[in-house]
Amino acid sequence: MKETNCIFCKIANGEIPSKTLYEDDNFRIILDLGPATKGHALILPKEHYANLFELPEETAGEAMKVAKKMADKMMKRLGCEGLNVVQNNGEMAGQTVFHFHMHLIPRYRTDGQSIGWKPQEVSQEELGKIYEQICQ
Ligand code: AMP
Ligand code: ZN
Repeated sequence: MKETNCIFCKIANGEIPSKTLYEDDNFRIILDLGPATKGHALILPKEHYANLFELPEETAGEAMKVAKKMADKMMKRLGCEGLNVVQNNGEMAGQTVFHFHMHLIPRYRTDGQSIGWKPQEVSQEELGKIYEQICQ
């Protein structure tokens, strides 16, 4: 399914031009237009899924395979020294385009970016409660 008003549906299916790094029957990988670093790319499925929760398991597996292939290529060709794979789900998690996508963000010593979080303290008791909430 495609969504008529979804910009990533249009880009993924070639209705809106993009700098395409890779394409197959199910995915397109494009350069991000607001890049965090040089080479920041987005992996877009051609079908519309709003987020990870809507993504079929098989497509999720395929997405990781194309991510690995492109990440390997970027490491070789761009001369980056690391690479973040980022994937946001929901406004609260920073998602701004509601068509599933994975970010590939090449990292360079001097890129000035920081992708991370501030570690919080947690007790063993709290960890136990969280485990129960998720698993039982
Ligand atoms: P997220 O915040 O995870 O939803 O990421 C959305 C990403 O899409 C951002 O990094 C934007 O810079 C990027 N973006 C938005 N519109 C376009 C577009 N038309 N072409 C390429 N990248 C885009
Ligand atoms: Zn879409």
